[in-house]
Amino acid sequence: MRRAVCGLLDVVFPDECRVCGVPLNSKTLQEVSRIPVCSRCLQDPEPLNAEFFCVACRTPFVNRHPLDESGRCALCRLGLNGFDQVYSYGAYEGTLRALVHLFKFEGVRPLAPKFGELLALVVPREQRFDAIVPMPLHWRRRWRRGFNQSELLAREIARRWNAPVVKAIRRKRATAPQAGLTSAQRRDNVRAAFEPKKRLDGMRVLLVDDVLTTGATASACARALKRAGAAHVSLLALARRDRRSVGEVAA
Ligand SMILES: [Zn+2]
Ligand SMILES: [Zn+2]
Repeated sequence: MRRAVCGLLDVVFPDECRVCGVPLNSKTLQEVSRIPVCSRCLQDPEPLNAEFFCVACRTPFVNRHPLDESGRCALCRLGLNGFDQVYSYGAYEGTLRALVHLFKFEGVRPLAPKFGELLALVVPREQRFDAIVPMPLHWRRRWRRGFNQSELLAREIARRWNAPVVKAIRRKRATAPQAGLTSAQRRDNVRAAFEPKKRLDGMRVLLVDDVLTTGATASACARALKRAGAAHVSLLALARRDRRSVGEVAA
């Protein structure tokens, strides 16, 4: 019985940081103690750094070969990205990845304000948005998870940019997991998945997502926003997969 009570307390008040494992005491514990992460890990995620970026989608590259004279990558040149601009904070690895997992898969929702701070660092203050649109989840997945992580992030930005959160897009069918598919297969997988449910005529829209991988999902959603009438679609993501780290030079 006593053990059961202690076990329960461990779940409610975990005694070690869920990222690095250091014991949490009054010194290391976040003031907002509902986050089971030490203050050092919370401060750890750094902005993604690279010498070469596409000026439009901000994809990092190891050299400038994939970029044309105007500084755009092949996908942007060919118009394959449905969005006009991308802002993202860090690489999807290390501490940031661990924090995103806690947030998304273990429901540590009190991380949202912290993520909001990081997101606010990468969006130029002078940008004006008429609508902040969270990347939708299929209703079944949302129901299972209990929340849409992108919506929590969108609310953080909406508050700071004084713009409304607009759930403008419906996710029509549960797409197969993207992992393990080629870029082309990913595009096919998501092409038909998004459907506008509100008009956004002439609006400047900020689409908010937690993680940007190949951009195929975000692209498809951005196209749906354009079909709804949006004049300009920027994408904001907390983390993006940095393909440079696995030696793949994306073109
Ligand atoms: Zn830690
Ligand atoms: Zn690009």
